[in-house]
Amino acid sequence: MLIGLTGGIGSGKSLAGDFFKSKDIDVIDADDLAHNALDKEGEGYKKFLEIFGENFLDESSDINRKALREYVFKNPEMKVKLEEIVHPIVQKGILNFIKKSNSKYRIIIVPLIAETKSSSFYDRVLAIECAKGIQLERATKRDSSNEEQILRIIKSQASTEERNKIANDVVVNNGTKEEFMINLEGIHKKYLNLLEND
Ligand code: ADP
Repeated sequence: MLIGLTGGIGSGKSLAGDFFKSKDIDVIDADDLAHNALDKEGEGYKKFLEIFGENFLDESSDINRKALREYVFKNPEMKVKLEEIVHPIVQKGILNFIKKSNSKYRIIIVPLIAETKSSSFYDRVLAIECAKGIQLERATKRDSSNEEQILRIIKSQASTEERNKIANDVVVNNGTKEEFMINLEGIHKKYLNLLEND
């Protein structure tokens, strides 16, 4: 059983991923795959230089992600070019993960399942929901970012309603971490039950 775990920035996806890992469930984060693709040793690094040149490299030849993010935000046609480099590498990584994984079920963390209309790829979609004010506060603190930048990202993502429409299960993460863990425990048990009755 393949679960797509989704939610807006700062909703608690990584924390949820850690919970499932602690239950011996294999978890992969599509954002990590995308990030690794552009590492110096990453599969997309050479292609990136061919298309974007060396303007985004810092003194250790690493890609300055912040500058790149700003640039593609202002130049949507370059965002498409960047996605053309990164997406196939992420897809390959996901297929590899599925092939290798042998846990009872498996989880792929993908922030943009609703946005990319890709819910049919998964057996079930689990959405993490978080009130906008709390989400903003948590993400701003985690990224040492400013609220304006986080708000911009929240606005570019699907709304809670859009996400919940494609979700089979929704966990609300407005309370304490302990409460979040208890609710995730319930989801884990539900998945195990579904597998048993399959
Ligand atoms: P995402 O992966 O969806 O962007 P994270 O799991 O990284 O979100 O959570 C964002 C930040 O909020 C992290 O610093 C995380 O530790 C914190 N956080 C998540 N859920 C809670 C909670 N229930 N109570 C307090 N802090 C939380």
